[in-house]
Amino acid sequence: MKAALSVAQHGKCAFCEAKITHVSYGHIEHYRPKAGYKQSKKDKLHIPGYFWLAYTWENLLFSCELCNSRHKGNLFPLANPKSRAKSASDNLTDEQPLFIDPASQNPSDLIRFRKHVPFAVKGNLHGKQTIASLGLNRDALNEHRSARLLLIVRLWQSTVELRKSTSVDALRRSIENEVTPRNVTQPSAEYSAMARDYLQSVGFA
Ligand SMILES: [Zn+2]
Repeated sequence: MKAALSVAQHGKCAFCEAKITHVSYGHIEHYRPKAGYKQSKKDKLHIPGYFWLAYTWENLLFSCELCNSRHKGNLFPLANPKSRAKSASDNLTDEQPLFIDPASQNPSDLIRFRKHVPFAVKGNLHGKQTIASLGLNRDALNEHRSARLLLIVRLWQSTVELRKSTSVDALRRSIENEVTPRNVTQPSAEYSAMARDYLQSVGFA
């Protein structure tokens, strides 16, 4: 099942969108937790959880270890805890989960980004709860998104220059300003050892 979920999700975590499979096997995340649930982080663990959904495809997501274990865990808050399903005979559609289910909802309706930082659209509770409980604003994730955004910004700026440039020299200067190999060889850059070797091999001092 994990292999099928990974293919369906392009090897990305259902919550933070990070690529997982190059550094980790990834986890199967039960959207509705199977063993037990908590309404809030301070709540005690209520047992059992949604055990009858343990192998239900619609309840399964592929996720990274951090989103699954450290942040979400058994947390599964509902807008109205009294509506919680306790057995297979209860109707799940009576529940209003506060976590976004990326398999059945479009997360972009509820969570958008300002630069690399996610926010809840119009302060909606689902977006707020999902960002806070899953740690979607965690520092390491923000740093990673920020680095990716920088590349996108540079690509876009080069595209704009390319469209409006009438002089080859101006275009060359613009591209040289945007694409700075030194950035990718910084110790803080991902895969910097590979970047250094490549740039050395092509004679970049
Ligand atoms: Zn994740």
